[in-house]
This record gives sequence, structure tokens and C-alpha cells, in this order.
Amino acid sequence: MKISPKVREFLCLTAHPEGCQKNVENQITYVKKHSEVKNGPKKVLIIGASTGYGLASRINAAFGCGAATIGVMFERQAAGKRTATAGWYNTAAFEHAAANEDLYAKTVNGDAFSKEVKDQVIDLIKKDLGKVDAVIYSLAAPRRTAEDGTVYQSVLKTTGEDFTNKNLNLKDNTIGEKTIEAATEEEVEATVKVMGGEDWKAWIRALTDADAIEEDAVTFAYSYIGPELTYPIYFEGTIGAAKKHLHKTAGEISEEFKENGISAYISVNKGLVTQASSAIPIVPLYMAVLYSVMKEKGLHEGCIEQITRLFGEKAVFGQAETDGQGLIRLDDWELKPEVQAEVERRWEKINTENVREYADIEGYWEDFYQMFGFHMDGVDYEKDLDPSVNIPSIP
Ligand code: NAD
Repeated sequence: MKISPKVREFLCLTAHPEGCQKNVENQITYVKKHSEVKNGPKKVLIIGASTGYGLASRINAAFGCGAATIGVMFERQAAGKRTATAGWYNTAAFEHAAANEDLYAKTVNGDAFSKEVKDQVIDLIKKDLGKVDAVIYSLAAPRRTAEDGTVYQSVLKTTGEDFTNKNLNLKDNTIGEKTIEAATEEEVEATVKVMGGEDWKAWIRALTDADAIEEDAVTFAYSYIGPELTYPIYFEGTIGAAKKHLHKTAGEISEEFKENGISAYISVNKGLVTQASSAIPIVPLYMAVLYSVMKEKGLHEGCIEQITRLFGEKAVFGQAETDGQGLIRLDDWELKPEVQAEVERRWEKINTENVREYADIEGYWEDFYQMFGFHMDGVDYEKDLDPSVNIPSIP
């Protein structure tokens, strides 16, 4: 069948297998050309490995460091005429590319919060790799079922008082206003349960208890802070509360697992269009303005450029370069004063009439479609395809 995009606001219900493959191949080519890692890891576990920052991390580990990788993801295989998710196709493409270069790559598809998946991953590590020397935590999940069966739902709300600001209407690219409600105490707590650091620490504890993690291993998780403009919806919102908990957890992991020599870091990354971020209100307009400013200044990066810089320049596996609070700042270019001054100037003026002058709407949508394997150069979208694609390591 022919596969075309079916977009519903911030979601695309279809994905293109050959487009996703091309996307993964482009990222591999980028890493092979630009990777400069000293003392890279050799056996890496990536939790949230199939899209966005986690996929870029897996590609850097494998093709930049020659590492064996185990990826954990929550994706869906095709069924009848329904395509698989983009993360499924990305992972199939990744495993094929790894096999071509004799790189070990296996994937566990299931709920990373569950004990079953943790046990399954640990069994795989013990059987095939012995131990891992790096654990990258890149989950972006809407909900979590805890051990006792309680389901926590993360929400994207502000805290304190309701917040109103400009918003890009994704249906027709007009600028309107959006009011974001203040969350209740329970909603903040639930978001922290899902996106905070509890599960990251549970993974490290499970790996340590099972003797499946090397001494002196490195672990890191990804965060976002952003500029003051987005504080009410991001850093001072529910998700920000979860990120603050994640930051605190890095210190707790380094302290609790000191005897095991494990170092935990937070990498604060740049705001980018991914499946997780396009669902946050107000943020897509900020990103479209940011893209246009950063592209004009020659500073724009995507996930693969960001993570290549994390592994190389920021030396996350060596003497990691951190700020005064122990955070690795990959958002250094986004938060340059001259970038933010220009974003603010445009933000004041932007409206439906001038949106294309002040924001990179095309760039926003290009990234969005490409996430699902559409709008990729060199892919024939008229071709009939079987949407069902196997991932070699998943039976
Ligand atoms: P993404 O949506 O592209 O990726 C999420 C990954 O998590 C996928 O591999 C998905 O399969 C996996 N996943 C989701 N629920 C799961 C579950 N229950 N079990 C197993 N796997 C599951 O998201 P992303 O934007 O790359 O986000 C990754 C991390 O980076 C998040 O912590 C996010 O906050 C952070 N971050 C994102 C941005 C941004 O602008 N996109 C910026 C800075 C930091």
C-alpha cells in the first residue's frame, strides 16, 4: 500500500518505513563524519531508544563509539493496514545498519517502568554482555503504572495561577492565545512520578543488585530548562517539577552508588521538535521562532548534532563539562543572550499575518513530518509498500 501522513494536530497516525530508514541512515552518516569521542563506552543500555534524543544517543554509542547497544522502547508493530509507529521502523533500520557493521544491537519492546521489562533487560545483559558500562535514560512517557498497580498520568500544566500566552494553532498555522490551567497538587505529584527520577534510580538499583553494571559506569538523563518565556509552562510547570526531581536524583544516584563508582549526570538539551515536545502548548511557537533565529545565526542543531556534541565536546564519558550546578549544558547555544533577545523581540511582534517572517513554520513542520519518515529526500512516496517490518532481535 501507499503510505501518506495522517496528521491530527500534534500527532501523525501513520509512519513511513523507508522514510524512517532514510532518517536513521542520515543520522548514522552524520555521526560517522563528526563523532570525536575519547574513552567511549562499549556496552550501552538506552532506555527510550527509538526516537528523538534516545535514538540519537543509540546511534552515537554504536556508530561513534563502536558500542554494543540494548535499547528499550514502547512501540507498535504494523497490523493490517495500520502502519507501525516511527520508533518501530527506526529501530528496524538501526538494527539492520548495526548488523552490517557487526555491531551487537538488541531491543526490548515493553513498558520500561515495569519490573518485567527490567528483569528481561537484565537477563539479556547478563547473557550477552555480562555488564553495561553506560546507561542513558531518555524516556518521555505520558503515564506510568507503578508496582502496586496505581496509574500515574503526567499532565502539561502550569503551577500557581493559570497562564495565558501566544500559541501556534497547529491546525492552520494561525497565532491565537492559549490559557494553561494551574495543576492541582495531585497532578504535580503524578507528573513527578512519571517524568521525575524515581524510575531512573530504580533501573540503576536493579542493575547494581543484579551485578549487571560495571564499576565506574556512567549514567545520564535528559532535561530541559528553556528561557524565562516558557518558564510558566515548562520549568515552573508540572514537567519542570518532574525535571527538578530528576536533577536531584542525579546527585542521589552518584551518592548512593558511590561504592560502585557510578557517576550520574543530567544533560540539559535544546528544545527540539519531537513526539514528546510537540504536545506541549505554547512550546511549538517558541520552537518555531527559536529555529528561525538559530538558523539565521548558524547555531541550529537537531537531536543528532546535540548528542554528538554531548559525547564529544562535552566529554560525558570523561571529564564531563558541567556548570556550577553539575549540569551538562547542551542548551548553551539556545540560551545565548543574543539568541534569546532576538526571540523575545519577535515574540512581542508575532501574529497570524507576520508568522512566517518571524518564525520558521516550514522548518517546524519539516522536522515534524520527518519524525514520521515523511518529506525525506530520496524516498519514493508513490511506491507500494508492505507496512509490516520485522525488527531482527524481536521475535
Ligand atoms: P521522544 O518522544 O522522541 O522519545 C521517547 C522515547 O521513550 C521513545 O523511544 C519511546 O518508545 C520511549 N518510551 C515512552 N514510554 C515508554 C515506556 N513506558 N516504556 C519504554 N519506553 C517508552 O522524546 P524526546 O523528546 O527524545 O525525549 C527524551 C528525553 O529528552 C525526555 O526526558 C525529554 O524531557 C528530554 N528532552 C527533550 C527535549 C525536546 O525538546 N524534545 C529537550 C530537552 C530534553
